[in-house]
Amino acid sequence: MTSLDEIVALCKRRGFIYPGSDIYGGITGFWDYGPMGVELKRNLKNEWWRTMVQSRRDVVGLDAAIIMNPDVWTASGHTKAFADPLVECKICNQRFRSDKPQELRAHEETHANKGEKVSWTEPKQFNLLTEVLLGVTEPKLTAYLRGEITQGVFVNFANVVASSRVKLPFGIAQIGKAFRNEITPGNFTFRSREFEQMELEFFVKPSDAEADKWFDYWMEERKKWYVSLGIKAENLKFRKHEDNERAHYARKAFDIEYNSPFGWSEFEGIHHRGDWDLSRHKLTYKDPQTNEEFTPWVIETSGGVDRATLFFLLEAYRKEEKRIVLGLHPKLAPMKVAVFPLVANKPELVDKAKTIYEELTKYFMVAWDERGNIGKRYLAQDEIGTPWCVTVDYATLEDDSVTVRDRDTTKQERVKVTELSGYFQKLLGIL
Ligand SMILES: [Zn+2]
Repeated sequence: MTSLDEIVALCKRRGFIYPGSDIYGGITGFWDYGPMGVELKRNLKNEWWRTMVQSRRDVVGLDAAIIMNPDVWTASGHTKAFADPLVECKICNQRFRSDKPQELRAHEETHANKGEKVSWTEPKQFNLLTEVLLGVTEPKLTAYLRGEITQGVFVNFANVVASSRVKLPFGIAQIGKAFRNEITPGNFTFRSREFEQMELEFFVKPSDAEADKWFDYWMEERKKWYVSLGIKAENLKFRKHEDNERAHYARKAFDIEYNSPFGWSEFEGIHHRGDWDLSRHKLTYKDPQTNEEFTPWVIETSGGVDRATLFFLLEAYRKEEKRIVLGLHPKLAPMKVAVFPLVANKPELVDKAKTIYEELTKYFMVAWDERGNIGKRYLAQDEIGTPWCVTVDYATLEDDSVTVRDRDTTKQERVKVTELSGYFQKLLGIL
């Protein structure tokens, strides 16, 4: 299995992910995406949006503000219940979540190795909402960076129903940043204080049969989506939440977990939120046919964009005898094609390669490299997961064809320059 250290090193070396504020020593729980990482993450979000919104008649999109009226969080129960139990080591005062026994045992062991025995303080509830102060005059308004993007959907429920043609069952989808004042961020980007979510709130009639049907449907759909983009089915599993670990709003919850180097870990949650949120915000729905008024139930699919990005990287990474390859699905790969002139000091080759580069950039992201020998350029593209490399050589000037080299097989074939953009668009499923 790929180690987390290998991925962290690749991410920094090749411009996927850097520690946040790196030159000032970083800041715990925050990460910056570099030139490759921003493309990978954007591709992932675009694929999600295409599947969850664009290709469905029963889902619409939304983009709500990060800072909301603080009353939202009181109504939703987050100011009270959105908390983790915190304990402190009485020897070194480090803080840990008491619901993470593995981390407690690990810390106890580090002291035990020095002949010390840890005792812990009583668990204290620690609220995860990040406070912000708004306005210039005192007293300033205390608001919060949203702890989940979901509430933006619920508070706009009536607006969406009134302004679009949605009818039950229907969903509202959103992608956006959320913030949690995590006590123990860790495992690279897996648990961060700033992160991005991709969520669907799917509203159904308040009946167990309807809720169960849609819950099962969305569990399967979401798993299929990860598999369709390259996660092996054997590296995914569903885990049902125990009664004592369910969030305050959830009637039933399953995680889709990934077989990561730090153990099976949550990719995405499927939650039956019942009428918790809409009733807290005093919102109802009127059936246009029967005029019956009721509070719909909600089935939620809640995925982490940063977690998914990390897991797709882990899944794609492979070490071969002479190279490291990121076998990313072409739809996720930051660069779809790289274009090289065989040598940099032959203007005819460079000009021809530039024309091809410019043509292809009309359709997708294309890398350009003219440094060093071709073999090294191939290896560099393999490490960022570029599925195809195009080389313009002397034969190109005679027969107007180029060499296309495949990342996974390393096989090469000649393709006519006039057919090149159609060739790649077909491979990418655009045409
Ligand atoms: Zn300690």
